[in-house]
Amino acid sequence: MLTNDQLSKWDRENFFHPSTHLAQHARGEAPQRVVTGGSGVHIEDRDGNRLLDAFAGLYCVNVGYGQTEIADAIAEQARELAYYHAYVGHGTEASITLAKMILDRAPDHMSKVYFGLSGSDANETNIKLVWYYNNILGRPEKKKIISRWRGYHGSGLMTGSLTGLELFHKKFDLPLSQVVHTSAPYYFRREDAAQSEADFVAQCVANLEATIEREGADTIAAMIGEPVLGTGGIVPPPAGYWKAIQAVLDKHDILLIADEVVTGFGRLGSMFGSEHYGIKPDLITIAKGLTSAYAPLSGSIVSEKMWKVLEQGTDENGPIGHGWTYSAHPICAAAGVANLELIDKLDLVTNAGATGKYFRDGLQDAVGGHANVGEVRGEGLMAAVEFVADRDDRRFFDASEKVGYRIAGALLERGVIGRAMPQGDILGFAPPFVMTREEADTVIEATRDAVTEVLG
Ligand code: PLP
Repeated sequence: MLTNDQLSKWDRENFFHPSTHLAQHARGEAPQRVVTGGSGVHIEDRDGNRLLDAFAGLYCVNVGYGQTEIADAIAEQARELAYYHAYVGHGTEASITLAKMILDRAPDHMSKVYFGLSGSDANETNIKLVWYYNNILGRPEKKKIISRWRGYHGSGLMTGSLTGLELFHKKFDLPLSQVVHTSAPYYFRREDAAQSEADFVAQCVANLEATIEREGADTIAAMIGEPVLGTGGIVPPPAGYWKAIQAVLDKHDILLIADEVVTGFGRLGSMFGSEHYGIKPDLITIAKGLTSAYAPLSGSIVSEKMWKVLEQGTDENGPIGHGWTYSAHPICAAAGVANLELIDKLDLVTNAGATGKYFRDGLQDAVGGHANVGEVRGEGLMAAVEFVADRDDRRFFDASEKVGYRIAGALLERGVIGRAMPQGDILGFAPPFVMTREEADTVIEATRDAVTEVLG
């Protein structure tokens, strides 16, 4: 077996890590961790640490680590048939079964599922489908996509453009010109502290209307949004937001893409965020929770309304010119089937809702009263603590103080993984759905101690 020193050297010399300070990593100044195992909510590393992963990897290991039923399904599929493509009508029992299981769980008006591998590629697919749809309908000008500041939709060319976080644009020549950003439904960061939640929603709606007016409704094809803002800060929408936004989109014949990469398959305590908030999307993006990350798999769920037009398109133009070699990969599909069966068997959607509430209430009790905690918020098993320099006038810390990162670091020293969200001093949590109340208590206590260590 390789020594830790050898691995760490090879890592620095050969491995280009995503979302990493490349220079610091190459110089050996940044943290390195070689992860070796996992069970339930815990991971283990080569240095013998056992950490409670309260972010489920990248909010994706929803059923927790070490679920042998999924591992067995993957192994069985690999032995039987590791690969065949899904082009020109080919399928496998796993991919066909999984498509049915997804549609059985999705809102009634959804019709078909296209499989990809990542949330990013699924959103790229969605944008292509939206453009194709409007071309078939003879509306070649209706192509722009509205996204929200602080939205996260991936880091490809189009999806990186849709993502409304500066880090993902800077020096990459993004966003592309077809993307237009509107305001984030982030009530805590409203400009006017005296503004009511209802007035804030009205302002978000007015901002959207103004954007549509400025660009022209006949140039806007779709709006994309996460039911709950994720990477942008873990921010549930203010009451009534989605209903009001949907009404504006319907009025202007603008499609709605619900990006449920994080919220799909139970994280909010409902099977889908669309169901949770009464959203009626034309496309739903799924990924992470579809396989709980046991294998890479994503999907675009297409509504009946869009599907009819896609069928018309292929009648007029021949087969759809879109596909990946690994679309509906049998091993990934087998992982998806076993994962969804396990979620049902263990009643994990219910647990996400119930344990989520217990966890968020506990966090509120533990740190909600701290002078530097501006807000504890969340929905289901998504939670965040936002830190402020001054609570009364909602003054934020200077970014150079790296308060969020320091608190996440202090938490890690206590054996718990939380995530310093990339924009703002926000500590995020999205634990596996199998988290017990005792494990939730461990995270809550470690958070209280970490906050006290860094902020007093
Ligand atoms: N959409 C949302 C809401 C996400 O949170 C993410 C990833 O975190 C993506 C899309 C992109 O998924 P991937 O990283 O699998 O490309």
